[in-house]
Amino acid sequence: MRELRLSVKQSFNGDTEHLVGVGQLAFSGLGLFVESDEAKKGVQTFAEKRPLDFSAYRARASACLDPIPRYIDPVAKPPYVSLHRSGELGRRATRALELLGSPCRVCPRLCSVDRLSDERGLCRIGRRAMVASHFPHFGEENCLRGWKGSGTIFFSGCNLRCVFCQNFDVSWKVQGEEASAERLASMMLELQAIGCHNINFVTPEHVVPQILEALPLAVEGGLRLPIVYNTSAYDSPDSLELMDGVVDVFMPDLKLASPEATRRYLGKREYAEVAMRNVREMNRQVGELVLDERGLARRGLIVRHLVMPGLLDETEEVLRFVAEELGPGTYVNLMGQYYPAGKVERYEEINRRPELAELQRAFESADELGLKRLDQRSRQAAVGVG
Ligand code: SF4
Repeated sequence: MRELRLSVKQSFNGDTEHLVGVGQLAFSGLGLFVESDEAKKGVQTFAEKRPLDFSAYRARASACLDPIPRYIDPVAKPPYVSLHRSGELGRRATRALELLGSPCRVCPRLCSVDRLSDERGLCRIGRRAMVASHFPHFGEENCLRGWKGSGTIFFSGCNLRCVFCQNFDVSWKVQGEEASAERLASMMLELQAIGCHNINFVTPEHVVPQILEALPLAVEGGLRLPIVYNTSAYDSPDSLELMDGVVDVFMPDLKLASPEATRRYLGKREYAEVAMRNVREMNRQVGELVLDERGLARRGLIVRHLVMPGLLDETEEVLRFVAEELGPGTYVNLMGQYYPAGKVERYEEINRRPELAELQRAFESADELGLKRLDQRSRQAAVGVG
């Protein structure tokens, strides 16, 4: 069993609220390391007041731990704060807003619309971002959700047309709150104020200018959380260049690998070529995932891949790309929760959940390719072993 050292002395100062916090920390995937006599006494006192079976937490924790934790200073400010102070963040926002003019160059589709005049292209979003929801998300990876949640801002609209979209109501059907830069900044600050560990922009590819426009306001308001860019990887080179030094954690979802599959299921034959080029660039910008001493993501790359029924060759190609081009130390979340959604009733071959044997084979492929940092909670949920 590996254990991460927590600041128990500080947390076990007799304050029951803090003690509950530590219990949740252990439960959420961090080991409990009791260092000082004072802290041990604190654990005992707390256990008498409100008995907790720490051995059970430890067992759960050992199954969830990242096998190669790397620690950095937990109080270091994200690089975007310095970019703001130097004026560079504001300059990036100005350049990003120019991409909204006709043709829109925010993503590789290059729609012939002027979004500055609120015209809409394939993503159906004009001058302002549309936010479907913002909330502390407890379903994300342990290193993002921690114990207070990942501060998720879920954008409506999308620049892909996946027939199996798992968020069909939000991505295909535009809905939510049209947000000004001020409102978007206030959402970030609300999520920080309630204790979220990061700001997690979900489906941000088509609203990079709006995010960059809001960020200086949020930084002025005190935003200091790491920024997570949770993307399909169908981004433009311009967007990624503008996000260099702004994004702390890139989290691309690499969907499929062959031109035939991406044409049929995503509506874009060149998706994989574009996405893989982008993920290489993301890896160049942030490198391997780095956690702080609490086990929370501070910087780096998390690659997600959803295992789909009957498409194990695609999974293997995606994993091979990650292992060979990004490296075996890349953090990979191989997700097994695919369910028929969106328009898959018209695609009979993927109109079912993946079978257990398919999920097992996907994880075996990852092992055979030498990938060392597989998300263990996903593995446990998909195939029952971590
Ligand atoms: S961001 Fe939207 S409007 Fe712009 S090119 Fe992409 S799909 Fe078209």
